Amino acid sequence: MKIMKKVREKLKSRSLELQRLRSTGKKVVACFAGDFAPLEIIHAAGAEPITLISGGTTDALDASAHAMHRYMCPFSRAQYGYYELQHAIPYYKMFDMLVAPTTCTQLIQTASLFEYHSDIPVFKLGVPAPTDGERSKTYFKTVLGMMQERVESLTGEKVDDDKLKASIALYRRIRDLLKQISELRKQPTPPLKASEFILLNHASLLLAPEDVVELLNEALSEFSQRDVGQNETPRILMVGPCIAMGDGKVLDIIEESGAAVVVEDFAEGIMYYWENVDDSVDPMDALVEKYLMKRPNCAFTRGTTGRHLEFVSKLIKEFKVDGVVWYQLRLCDSYNVHSYTLSEYLRNADPAIPVIKVESEYDIADNNQLKTRIDTFIETIITNFKGGF
Ligand code: SF4
Repeated sequence: MKIMKKVREKLKSRSLELQRLRSTGKKVVACFAGDFAPLEIIHAAGAEPITLISGGTTDALDASAHAMHRYMCPFSRAQYGYYELQHAIPYYKMFDMLVAPTTCTQLIQTASLFEYHSDIPVFKLGVPAPTDGERSKTYFKTVLGMMQERVESLTGEKVDDDKLKASIALYRRIRDLLKQISELRKQPTPPLKASEFILLNHASLLLAPEDVVELLNEALSEFSQRDVGQNETPRILMVGPCIAMGDGKVLDIIEESGAAVVVEDFAEGIMYYWENVDDSVDPMDALVEKYLMKRPNCAFTRGTTGRHLEFVSKLIKEFKVDGVVWYQLRLCDSYNVHSYTLSEYLRNADPAIPVIKVESEYDIADNNQLKTRIDTFIETIITNFKGGF
């Protein structure tokens, strides 16, 4: 528990730290979540990278209501809402540039709000729909070069190969550690809860990377030695577009129902840490490879549905998953279609994997209904698939 307390304290003081850094002239570059913008380039150009990852509260939705319609998903509305809210989450007021990948149309529209209603420069990072092929590679490499130039002109620092390689080494360490910690949950009784892992994951997107390496090293050592005894419960994989920092509702309900989430497949999570940047080739080519070609999958990229189904099967096998909870936010259209494909795939698998789809709109009004559905789902797994735990 010591390490989680430390992480929470670090997160609490991050806004003050960013304020201090900015007062010394350091620039802060924020990225929308989804793992398309290489943080390594931002770091190598002398800026402090952060990822906008908060959500889960309705005050941010209310604050965005004058500019964003209710038919947009709550995560995208929250990103602008937190910027509009005074003092709610200070780091939403503490960046000097925003990088917005052109993936989800709702986030692109959110970026346009920043572009036209704030003084913050926005760089829309073009992401090709096909993630393979030479043309996509060339296009993405060009776009990353443009992003690099924009950050360089913000900080006044040039990126060279040595700086980029040093930043790649730092983030490689972060991904390695996150993956090692996540894989501890392959054990019959996982030594850490999903809520703890997700907090580490979110912290790694918000804190200074040098601090993250230190915290993750400590976390790995603490969790490796944690004595949790023997307590086998249904093992759940959570899948969906994103789970924001502050959006712990569904996770809490699953954990309170007596099941354990042993692995999650979300854009800001597994896509960030599962694959690493190759440090033995040209650094820019390695970044293109990691951020475009090697990523497990997302709903915006063309031709990757099959790859994602295989990836989910692999996670189910490796983490010995008993059931899948698809968690998405209301009105997330792209992922909605994929939820149908994945559910069909799992129901027809041999053996079939139980799957449930749940949605939320960051509103406490849906708590009871979510709890009833999830509790019933977990009960069914216990009764039908294991003959009791
Ligand atoms: S939840 Fe879906 S619609 Fe909302 S920002 Fe993420 S991908 Fe886009």
